[in-house]
This record gives sequence, structure tokens and C-alpha cells, in this order.
Amino acid sequence: MASYEYNESNQRVLFGEESLSKLPSELSKLGCTKPLILTTPSKASYVDDVAKLLSGQIHVAGSFTRVTMHTPKEVTEEALEYSTSVDADCFVSIGGGSAVGLGKALFVRTGLPHICIPTTYAGSEMTPIVGQTENRVKVTHVDRKAIPAVVIYDVKLTLTLPANISATSGLNAMAHAVEALYAPDANPITSTFAIKGIQTLSTSLPQIMQNPKDIAARSDALLGAWLCGKCLAGASISLHHKLCHVLGGTFNLPHAETHAIILPHALAYLAPSIPGVMKELAENIPDSDGNAVNGLNKLLSKLGITYSLKDLGMKEEGIDLAVETLLQKPFWSPRTIEKDAVRELLKRAWDGQPAQ
Ligand code: NAD
Repeated sequence: MASYEYNESNQRVLFGEESLSKLPSELSKLGCTKPLILTTPSKASYVDDVAKLLSGQIHVAGSFTRVTMHTPKEVTEEALEYSTSVDADCFVSIGGGSAVGLGKALFVRTGLPHICIPTTYAGSEMTPIVGQTENRVKVTHVDRKAIPAVVIYDVKLTLTLPANISATSGLNAMAHAVEALYAPDANPITSTFAIKGIQTLSTSLPQIMQNPKDIAARSDALLGAWLCGKCLAGASISLHHKLCHVLGGTFNLPHAETHAIILPHALAYLAPSIPGVMKELAENIPDSDGNAVNGLNKLLSKLGITYSLKDLGMKEEGIDLAVETLLQKPFWSPRTIEKDAVRELLKRAWDGQPAQ
């Protein structure tokens, strides 16, 4: 009989169309009366939406709309100072992984409750991983208490998410699930979430590309993101995430796009060491024809991800630096990390060649 450990969280999740309407009662349940709303500049309109929803019931303490990707320390400190000045008693993050990340960082500093309303598919709302960037170096740590107290998934909020961001953030989520399948601490719970998450996203994301207002596909993708986020929370990461951290940290490449490009390449590298996982993936990624790397290559092309690391602005000489940086911090991998083979992997991803 298999033995394993699995960490459950006390998180409460509300899912569905119009579930945002439950925000006032969720705040009341937590005893919160002065929320600070956190979002990105391009979605500052969310502040008015939330204030309108709460009006007559709960007074919004304030809003912070300068959320930035990768939780820069100075932005967190600015938000913290503002939060103290308006005497906020909780945080409501609304937006993608960047807004969620700031909510987690503020929770870590204050212990105040964090309600999270995700509007992309990054999956951070499910994880205990807290990031911080200082002097262009991003570090993460695990704090189980930082898993947001309440998550409200309102599919209607995702209808405005542009198709290209839907695709890349969805592939970022899929990468959490793919890595969970071969993690040394994989278990039947994380693997079940992973397969369902991969199936759901690989089917719904192409439908969203065809029709970004397809509410059934949007709903499936949001569920997929939830499941994939649980995978990142429950199992260890390996080559894929490690490489993306190096590329994001060293060259400031955009997070979701980098994950989208690297996913099939990292899987192709590991494939010889994980035949069982490859078989399962091929059975669950449409159009794989018995080869999951083919399935991912086709999925990327359906999602319009035809660009490369070069197109994201990485210089060719960066490939060697990335390999050196990756090798500096050894990590568990199903296949030994071989310098020349990883360089080859990166060269293909840099050039925009299909993974093989
Ligand atoms: P993001 O949060 O930066 O959002 C990307 C863009 O989409 C932003 O301009 C935002 O305003 C816009 N946007 C968001 N929702 C929208 C909507 N519904 N309609 C229109 N526009 C919308 O990007 P992301 O990919 O969601 O998150 C990336 C960040 O999340 C990175 O910092 C990454 O490190 C972090 N992340 C953390 C974890 C974790 O477990 N800690 C997991 C995944 C990602």
C-alpha cells in the first residue's frame, strides 16, 4: 500500500457565475469591515465594481492599483504603508497572479485576512508560495498560512481576459500539473487533480481562442486553473519551473509566456525517464497521437504561441548563462540535468523550433 503525505488547507472556495456578489457576506463572515482592494493598473475599474457591490454594507478602506508582476519588495512596502495609513483590516486581491501575489505578501507582513478573486488562470490563489523580487532577484518561500482564506472564482470576470493572456496563463497552470505528475512527492490526490486539470485546460483553452466569450469554456478553464494550482501546492517542482525561474529572474522575461514556451521542451527532455507519465499525458492531451510532446506542440500552435525566447527579447549568449545558473542550485529531476542537453533544449526554445 502506498504511503504519502498531503497538506489540506482551510481555504473556502466559491465558484460560479456572479459569485462575486457573495463578497459582502464573505467579508462579514471574517469580521472584516475595512477592506483594501488590490489590483493591476489596467484593471483599476475593478475598484469601482467592488466598491459598488459593497456600497451601503461595507466601507472600502482604500485601493492600491499599482500591483506589479513578481511582487517587487518596494511595491509591497508602498502598499503596506498605505494599508496602515487607511487602517485596513483585510485585503481583497482581484486580478491575475500579480494581484494575488501582493495579497499574499501583505498577509505575510500583517496577518490580516486575504480574500482573493482570480481573473486569470495562473493558479497562485491555491498555493502557499510567496514571492518577492529585490534588486532584480526573485526569491520564493513556502508559508502554508499564506494560502488565501477565501477564493471567489467568478467566471464572468474572466470574459474580458484577452485570448493571448488566457492561453499563456492557462499553460502556466498546466505546467504546475505536468510537473506534479513526476514529482518525487506525487500522490494519488495531486495526480488526480493534475490529470483533470490538464484535460480541462487543454480542451477549453482552444475553445476560448475561438470565442473568448464562451462561458462554458471559461468556466472549465477556471476549474482547470484551480486544480492545477492545487498541484503546485501539493507536489514539488522540477526542471520546468526551475528553468522558468532562471529565465524570468536573469533576463526579466515575462512569466506566463516563458512558461508557455518552455513546457513542451522541458517535458521532451524528461520524457525518456518518465514513460508512464508520458503515456498518461498522451491519453489526456488532445491530438497527441501517442506522444504528449506532439500534443503540447499542437496545443501551443492552436493557442497562437508561435513565438520563441528570442522573440521575448533574450539574447543568444544568455543561453550559456541560463544553463550555468540552473546548474548552480541542484534540484531533484527524474532525468539527470546534463549541461549539453539542457543547452540544446534552451537553444530550441530560443530559436522557436518545436520541442522533440
Ligand atoms: P498578471 O497578474 O500580471 O496579469 C496579466 C495582465 O492581465 C495584467 O495586465 C492584468 O491587469 C490583466 N488581467 C488580469 N485579469 C484580467 C481580466 N479578467 N481581463 C482583462 N485583463 C486582465 O499575470 P498572471 O499570469 O496571472 O500572473 C503572473 C504572476 O503570478 C507572476 O508574478 C508569477 O510569479 C505569479 N504566480 C505565482 C504563483 C504562486 O504560486 N505563487 C503561481 C503562478 C503565478
